[in-house]
Formats: sequence, structure tokens, C-alpha cells
Amino acid sequence: MALIIDKNLCTGCGSCVDACPFGAMELHDGVAVAGDGCTLCGACVDACPESAIGLDEPAGEQTAQAASGVWVFAEQRQGQAPEVVAELLGQGRKLADELRAELAAVLLGHGVEGLVAPLMSQGADVVYLIDDPRLARFNDDAYADALAALVRDRRPEVLLAGATAIGRSLMPRLATAVATGLTADCTGLAIDRERGLLLQTRPAFGGNIMATIVCPQARPQMATVRPRVMKAAQPDAARRGRLERVTLSSDVGGGSAVLEIVAEIEDQVNLTGAEVIVCGGRGVGSAEGFELVRQLARELGGVVGATRGAVDSGWIGHAHQVGQTGRTVAPRLYIGLGVAGAVQHLVGMQSSDTIVAVNKDPQAAIFQAAHYGVVGDLFEVVPAMIARLRQRRGQDQASAADQKC
Ligand SMILES: Cc1cc2nc3c(=O)[nH]c(=O)nc-3n(C[C@H](O)[C@H](O)[C@H](O)COP(=O)(O)OP(=O)(O)OC[C@H]3O[C@@H](n4cnc5c(N)ncnc54)[C@H](O)[C@@H]3O)c2cc1C
Repeated sequence: MALIIDKNLCTGCGSCVDACPFGAMELHDGVAVAGDGCTLCGACVDACPESAIGLDEPAGEQTAQAASGVWVFAEQRQGQAPEVVAELLGQGRKLADELRAELAAVLLGHGVEGLVAPLMSQGADVVYLIDDPRLARFNDDAYADALAALVRDRRPEVLLAGATAIGRSLMPRLATAVATGLTADCTGLAIDRERGLLLQTRPAFGGNIMATIVCPQARPQMATVRPRVMKAAQPDAARRGRLERVTLSSDVGGGSAVLEIVAEIEDQVNLTGAEVIVCGGRGVGSAEGFELVRQLARELGGVVGATRGAVDSGWIGHAHQVGQTGRTVAPRLYIGLGVAGAVQHLVGMQSSDTIVAVNKDPQAAIFQAAHYGVVGDLFEVVPAMIARLRQRRGQDQASAADQKC
């Protein structure tokens, strides 16, 4: 898109200069000129009394009118789709239903046809499959070229991807290639019914506010979503969809080649997949204090999480950090011990099924998010919890033994 100023119509009245929220409009020799700060917001277009300023869309760029359908990029590695794909399909289905549009999954790779039926069972009406040896290994260049060609051809209205290593690398390239916007790391997606726009919500300004971002003109409206923020689609094996095979053009991904893939050394902590997380905050007081957090986690068969406060204090490693700059988690049970409940922490755990907080400050923000709260000193409360758990386990074992007799 470009700003077009008709010098013959411009009278140099300066309305555009006054209207520009970015101070980007200037008058040169009595004629309006847009400077580097111009964001193409269109304020000057509306302000110009002579209709001398307009926004021009180059041929080929996708406009809102031409676009339709919600797409989910069905990321896969070695034929395995990560859980975030099911989560995107769950959310994508809701968005597509609101827009009365089709939900499509876009699957790229080689020998990955086995994923087609699961994608349909998770809600996709159509799967666009590009199966080609050149896509066997993820490669930014080739994948971006293939997706950009498909987007230009089919013109989706919305395109979602996981905020994974692949999604974070691929989606900015794609957005640039098709000249649209991208909102990264969304924690909420909804449809503005009046305007039919995708409302893309994510933490902003260091997590101090939640910003809702829209992409009113260019298409597709693109967003990445962190794993475990949205609820996964429940598969329905009886569900059927349409498979569309797409041929890869001959000139994709000339810029780079993958020579070798070195498997990542996984963290010892599987926070993302944990069913139970016991999370320690600065209230735990020291590295030694974390032994109590570990004990409770062991009793519950869970793993240990931590706030950034605790990590920055050097009491535990970053792999344990939950929150905006750590892991996003959604366990069945989250227990926060000495955790204040800063917004940057909450965005990483607020989808947990049950949240329990122990904090000695009754005003602590975590209590706003918690389903159960204990106001008290964690060094008194946690040993009492452990003792009660052990007592219950003892009772359960005794009654099981009774039943056997
Ligand atoms: C850009 C940015 C990104 C961030 N990312 C993250 C992130 O990913 N994850 C994250 O967690 N934070 C993150 N933060 C930091 C966040 O803002 C908070 O500073 C941090 O979460 C606070 O950690 P805390 O709750 O452990 O510590 P504190 O704020 O110090 O709170 C400690 C709590 O423990 C309670 N307490 C003290 N002693 C006891 C006791 N004996 N028994 C019971 N309760 C007790 C206190 O009442 C208090 O509520 C980020 C900040 C920024 C600016």
C-alpha cells in the first residue's frame, strides 16, 4: 500500500499536517509530502478537504473484500504435529463459525498424508496438502515461498500459526511476502462482529497492558499463538473433510538449504506437558527454600515451576520459569507458593484448570486468579499440606488393604 498525493489538487492548507498522529506530514513548497514516519494510517486521507490524498493498493495485494476462510498452518516435524495445531484448530473452528467461513488446515512436508485425517477430525473442513521432497525438512525459504503462493492464490481472511520455533521464524517471512501484518504471541483471538475483523490480543508494554490489535485492510490477518493458551479441539473420528493437493512451483526456496538437523537437547523440566505444577516465587526466600516446593511437587507427582523473581534471584534455573518470558502452562493443577501474581506471570498460567495460591499477603494479586487461596506463611502451610497428603495416602492404602482381606 502507498500514500498517493495529487499535487494538482493539494492547496497546501496543512489539514493533513495537523491530522497526522505521527508528525510525518510536511509541506514542501506549499505541497503535502509524507515523511519516513508515515505508517499509512489514513488520518491524512480523511482530513484532506480537497480529496488530494489517497491510499493506493498495488495490484496483487489482498484486500478485505477478496479474502475468505480461516487457515491454520499445520506445522509438523517428521510427520508429528505438535499439540498447538489441535489448539489452533479448536480456536480456528470458533472463528470460522462466527465468520460463516471454511476452516482450512495447510499441511506442508513430504510423506505426511497420514496427518490429513486427524486434521479433519479436529475440525478442518479442507486440508491443503503440499507434499514435495523439497519440503521434507523445514526450510524457511521453501516453506515461505510455498505458503505465499498458496495465500496469493486462495486468499484466506485469517491465518493462524503456533508461536513455536518454526512458526516464529516462518510467519514474519510470509507476512512480508504477502504484504500484510502479523501479531505475534497472541493470548486471545475473537471476531469483531460489526466489522468482521480478527481481534488479536496479546500482552504489550512489558506485559503491563493487554493490547487488542486489528489488521483492517491487508489480508490475511495473521497471528501466532503460544502453545497451551487455547483449548485443543476434541477429535471426532467420524468427521470428514475435503483434501486438496497443491503442486509446488518449480522455483521455491533457492536461497538456502538445510544441511543437517541436530536434535535439541530437551530441558529436564517438562513444564509445558505437566498435569501438576507447584510454582515457587520470591516468597520462598532462598534456593534452599525451594526444597519445600520440590517436596510438595513430588507428593503430587508434579513438576516445579518458578516465577521470574525466583529465577532472577538465582534460586532455580530459567527452564522452570512460568510466564510471559518463560513457559506458558495449562496444568490440571497449579499451586503458587509465595507468588505475587504479576500480570507477566499470570499470562503464562491462567488457563490452568485449578489454581491454588498460598501467600501471606491477603491483597496479593494471585488471589484474583486463584480458585482456592490460603492466606498464610508457606513454611507453615506447605508442611501441613504434605502431612495431610501423606495421611490421606496412608488411609487410602489401609482401606485398600482392608478391601483385599
Ligand atoms: C518484560 C517482563 C517480562 C516478565 N516475564 C515474567 C515471567 O515470564 N514470569 C514471571 O513470573 N515474571 C515475569 N516478570 C516479572 C514480574 O513482573 C514479577 O516481577 C515477578 O513475577 C514477581 O515474582 P514473585 O511473585 O516471585 O515475587 P514478588 O513480587 O517479590 O512476590 C513475592 C510474594 O511472596 C509473598 N510471600 C513472601 N513471603 C512469603 C511467605 N513466607 N509465605 C507466603 N507468601 C510469602 C509476598 O506476599 C509476595 O506476594 C516479567 C517482567 C517484565 C517486565
